[in-house]
Amino acid sequence: MALISDLFFEARAAAQNLLEYAVGPHVRLGVTGLSRAGKTVFITALIEHLTKAAARGAQRNALPVFRVRAEGRLSAGSLEPQPDDAVPRFAYEEHAAALSGGSSGPEGRHWPQSTRRISELRLRLDFESRGGFRPGPQSLAIDIVDYPGEWLLDLPLLNKSFAQWSRETFIASATAARAPLSTKWREFAGASTPIAKASEEDARRAAELFTQYLRACRADEYSFSSLPPGRFLMPGDLEGSPALTFAPLAVDEGAVYAPDSLAGMMERRFEAYKTHVIRPFFQDHFARLDRQIVLVDALSALNAGPAAIRDLEVAITDVLTAFRVGRGGFLMNLFRPRIDKILFAATKADHLHHTSHDRLEAILRLITARAIARVETIGAEVDVIALAAVRATREAKVNGFGQAPMEAVIGTPLDQERIGDEVFDGKSEAAIFPGELPRDPQAILLGEPLAIMANEIDYRFVRFRPPPPRRAPDGTLLPPPHIRMDRALQYLLGDKLT
Ligand code: GDP
Repeated sequence: MALISDLFFEARAAAQNLLEYAVGPHVRLGVTGLSRAGKTVFITALIEHLTKAAARGAQRNALPVFRVRAEGRLSAGSLEPQPDDAVPRFAYEEHAAALSGGSSGPEGRHWPQSTRRISELRLRLDFESRGGFRPGPQSLAIDIVDYPGEWLLDLPLLNKSFAQWSRETFIASATAARAPLSTKWREFAGASTPIAKASEEDARRAAELFTQYLRACRADEYSFSSLPPGRFLMPGDLEGSPALTFAPLAVDEGAVYAPDSLAGMMERRFEAYKTHVIRPFFQDHFARLDRQIVLVDALSALNAGPAAIRDLEVAITDVLTAFRVGRGGFLMNLFRPRIDKILFAATKADHLHHTSHDRLEAILRLITARAIARVETIGAEVDVIALAAVRATREAKVNGFGQAPMEAVIGTPLDQERIGDEVFDGKSEAAIFPGELPRDPQAILLGEPLAIMANEIDYRFVRFRPPPPRRAPDGTLLPPPHIRMDRALQYLLGDKLT
């Protein structure tokens, strides 16, 4: 078995090398994160910067930390035809037009449609190489692969039986934080008899209630992260498919159930999900990535409280497990990831004043370090950053009533956003006092109330519109303002562009 799998990997590696030869130097960059973490916005902004930076020549450089650009060696960035016929193209033009307002003008600007399935796009960067064996003009093909983080969290299921998964899911759903959200499903599941004759109607109802529970856990006020199976929340092409018509059941571990019983049917579907959904994703897509950025909406978890933060740590541990397994773990025969650098990025840092950006980074660093300690070896370099792919706010000091001036962020809240009794119309700007994150990241893990939550008025969920688009003197649209995107680019791609 090991020999067959080795041959398989060798054959695939040879095919990859051939491909590399055909396209030249080449890197596959995975962009993932749970729903609403900011993948679509990040990729759109990244493409805007990489395709427009070179054309800006010596004009103001928006990416000072991205060395190839800062050193004036980036000569062109262009979109290339889609590399994989079986994967949809990332709808960059549509998303960029949403951010700027497109043909409806700046007032029509809005956030793009979020990621719901896997998509890809190939970029080519032309640059002047200074180091290595081949100084002179070079080009690098970058395949950006956008996929839901929910799918990554499915990996641990491969190593679980239906009974074990059921047991663990019931236990998690009965914890204090989740119990009120899972009552309906648990009541239904409790009344189901595993040995009863299989009924499609019962399976459908159980799957429906189970999915409703998982969805409720993702709502802003709870913001739980670790909720497999991933396709129940992000079905992609499986929307409405019978492959998702199963749910945990109170079955005995080790017991054998008749094929036509409810338990027999649920178990079969669970196994089919592993074989036909999880495995192909890891083999066909995940195993081919070279670099990975994992976007994390840490602010939502911080806002939701200690249970969500603990859950985020579990999710990050599961994500790291996916990077480790192929390197000698239990799933070695399934795939061998070749990812050598992973960046965990806390997104939407523009919701905070810059004095809190490093603190946000420190919190994510602490959570990630704890996760790394749990999975031990990963076999890839890991770093952490706080960023905003699109900076929707600017900073100002605002005079308080008789108090010292306070640090605020100013932006245009989305239509119908509220702060206390005030409802915004999506047109006027507002100054928001986001509060401060604690200096010591440990405070978060100890569950101390956050200054960010301690304001009398709840500023936590104010969401802003994208910033008005800016144009260069020659009329061309500029990439959106950002926070630390250049640092992310340098970490992920810098060494390929020396
Ligand atoms: P996806 O589900 O991971 O693709 O998430 P999106 O990229 O669609 O982002 C979800 C939402 O988060 C967007 O609609 C925006 O409201 C918000 N968002 C994402 N990135 C940023 C950012 O850089 N700044 C701000 N202010 N909001 C962002």
